[in-house]
Amino acid sequence: MKISDIDKSKVTPMMKQYLEIKENNPDIILFFRLGDFYEMFFEDAILCSRELEITLTGKSAGLEERIPMCGVPFHSVSPYINKLVQKGYKVGICEQTSDPKESKGIVERGITQIITKGTIANPEDLDERINNYLGAALDTKDGFLLTWADISTGDIYITQTNHDFLSLATEIINLGLKEIILKENNEPNLIKTLKENFNILVNYFENTEEPNEYNELLKNLNDVRQKQAVSLLLNYITDTQKRTLNHFKNIIFQDKKNHIHMDPHTKRNLELTETIRNKERTYSLLWLLDKTKTAMGSRLLKRWIENPSTDKKELNLRYDTINTLSNEFILKEELRNLLDSVYDLERLSGKIAYGNANARDMLQLLNSITTFPEIKKILKQINFDSEFSTLDDLKNLLQNSIFENPPYSLREGYLIKDGYNQELDELKSLRKGGKEFIAKLEKEEKEKTNIPKLKVGFNKVFGYFIEVPKGNIKDVKEEFGYIRKQTLANCERYITQGLKEKEDLILSAEEKIINLEYNLFNEIKEETSKYIKEIQKAVNIISKIDVIAGFTILSEKNNYVRPEIIETNEIEIKNGRHPVVEQVVEDEFVENDIIMDKDTNILLITGPNMSGKSTYMRQIANIIIMAQIGSFVPAESAKLPIFDKIFTRIGASDDLVSGESTFMVEMKEAGEALQNATKDSLILFDELGRGTATYDGMSLAQSIIEYIHEKIKCKTFFATHYHELTSLDETLKNLKNVHVSALEENGQITFLHKIKEGPVDKSYGIHVAELAKLPETVIKRAKTILTTYENKEHNQQNISQLEMIFDTPKETSKLKEKIDKIEANNLTPIDALNLIYELKEEAKNE
Ligand code: ATP
Repeated sequence: MKISDIDKSKVTPMMKQYLEIKENNPDIILFFRLGDFYEMFFEDAILCSRELEITLTGKSAGLEERIPMCGVPFHSVSPYINKLVQKGYKVGICEQTSDPKESKGIVERGITQIITKGTIANPEDLDERINNYLGAALDTKDGFLLTWADISTGDIYITQTNHDFLSLATEIINLGLKEIILKENNEPNLIKTLKENFNILVNYFENTEEPNEYNELLKNLNDVRQKQAVSLLLNYITDTQKRTLNHFKNIIFQDKKNHIHMDPHTKRNLELTETIRNKERTYSLLWLLDKTKTAMGSRLLKRWIENPSTDKKELNLRYDTINTLSNEFILKEELRNLLDSVYDLERLSGKIAYGNANARDMLQLLNSITTFPEIKKILKQINFDSEFSTLDDLKNLLQNSIFENPPYSLREGYLIKDGYNQELDELKSLRKGGKEFIAKLEKEEKEKTNIPKLKVGFNKVFGYFIEVPKGNIKDVKEEFGYIRKQTLANCERYITQGLKEKEDLILSAEEKIINLEYNLFNEIKEETSKYIKEIQKAVNIISKIDVIAGFTILSEKNNYVRPEIIETNEIEIKNGRHPVVEQVVEDEFVENDIIMDKDTNILLITGPNMSGKSTYMRQIANIIIMAQIGSFVPAESAKLPIFDKIFTRIGASDDLVSGESTFMVEMKEAGEALQNATKDSLILFDELGRGTATYDGMSLAQSIIEYIHEKIKCKTFFATHYHELTSLDETLKNLKNVHVSALEENGQITFLHKIKEGPVDKSYGIHVAELAKLPETVIKRAKTILTTYENKEHNQQNISQLEMIFDTPKETSKLKEKIDKIEANNLTPIDALNLIYELKEEAKNE
């Protein structure tokens, strides 16, 4: 049964209320709170039962037929909501919004929060090592202003892109946004690609008016259009979250100049945060470098790897800190031990701002800030930034107020310590008095009635009672004043007037305690939220030192070296290694120098397949990125300038946004590099031009190399199988040939993985094919063709006659037989002419 089919005048009042809310929010799956369950109805129920694999039942709603319904328990709703949200649905939580005791008629209900992919705030539903970004884009006619925030941590940023949707879409993908808010859908194809290929939720929202409640936050922006862009994001957050959040940090303008620019292809090709093949973190650079102790450190490291710095001073400070920590073994260990006790303060702050924090969260906060004085002391000793508060007042407040072992829920009491609030202590003593009273009463009643097996007990339905075993019922006298309450198989339960009065007092104490503890807890939470800015300041410093301490551990373990940042445009890496490959290769990793003086801008790399060309190229990019996030690098020594951009064209690449052919994408990526690279950039081109006909590809490769050589003059690594290109060093003075060496012995090839000067003397493609166990006939034939090519005797015809080549027996041509038999020397000119005529006629018929 569909919503549209029903007669609304006939449904129950509760269902009427549901339908009204649903009508205003048709695109939202409503989780409608009824008692201990969230229930879904009609089409939502059918969808949820399918997506969440829960039973579809029915509910009578005043109509003849029962309506479709399914439900989930309220206390375990989170995973269900998360599953729907991850699939791109929007979920609306619908709760009672008025107090049932004060409501006349049906209790009011309304949506208290809408959860979408980009607005998940509950840390339990998020990967602690990854930021969850929601973005909004505003068309300013001369560009797009893109703003994004992680509402679980309070991070908020803004940047500008070119005025074309492709640039915007690339940035959205590059930043890993989970959801993007747009004002209108004027690029349906690209939006479809964002949704379908990248699983990004796209929503539309209009309101760019500056929200008063975020005046403080917006104050930091001068440009009115920037304010509008951020307002679009904030208004959407308010609209869905139905609350104002006070944990947003200062808005950061992401200036591209401060970071190495890399497009999504480059990040992917270099396997910075996930591998190309499995899209997993394991074996990515992030996987290798993440030795952090805190979730905040882990997220910061990911941001650094995706946006390496171009600030030489900052990088040198990070290297200095690694040096210091390496020399201060004990301090480093102490620091890392302390960091172990620091919880995810960013997301705890988010929970506090949301009003979702429970007492256990407060204890995590307390445990974390308790480490602050010691962390601060160590940071001072190692000359690191220690300008943050130790939050002593907050620590005292939490230490004195929060009960040591509180429950998850806030509605069961046991949140607040004794001695924190006088009224609470008095109520507790009354409750405790209750227990003492039971013991005392039991003793007195036993004596009075002379029934030794008499008991005083309590249950939720009947309250306090006096229990007399069956055999003693006859001993209950009227003067005892016992009023019969319940008969069980082997006993009778009674109450007395006095007991009832005491019960009221004790039970109301219990209820009062729970309410008072709840209110006191909320006050503490409110007070704590005033410290969020200070907590965040500490978090910035602590997460940074966490990452750097991790770098230190790794440098020591893997024998990395401090890079030297130089002002000249030269690279001098001695015995460099690929940081990830060296960890996973079975044999010893072969170290290689990367030397490019100021007169060498292009390295043309040749060498057999599988010899290590790509590894060598990725190695330089990895070393540069590690250096520019402030880490030591895998080499014996490394001198490097600061790079501003990295471009790659490595391997076959699926198209990002427009569904174009591989070669088209290859050329677009090359074009991107040629248009945007500066003399301070790094370009890695691996087998550029391979995706088309040999001569086309080779010509393009050469002209691209020439363009880089003459116009851009940046450090470029160009790996190729076109040996013809190696002669370019005769004309291009800043190009140098290097090759990866291989050893051929008795027809067997050994890859040495060692980079040597000069071009490779021969290629080994067929050997590699042999290693890959291609059929012997194919290999044999390939060798023949190769010889033909090498002797330049090749003609198109004998390559196309493939049937003959692969041993397919075929009838010998009669014409051929006849030609073979001709003895040319014995023919007269006229015989020859006649024979030609004859052969032509026969050829027509063959
Ligand atoms: P192709 O031309 O087929 O793309 P390639 O020359 O680019 O091949 P790589 O992919 O870089 O070769 O390397 C092939 C394998 O050789 C790597 O997966 C790695 O296991 C190993 N290898 C590469 N470089 C080294 C090295 N320096 N030391 C040890 N092993 C290496």
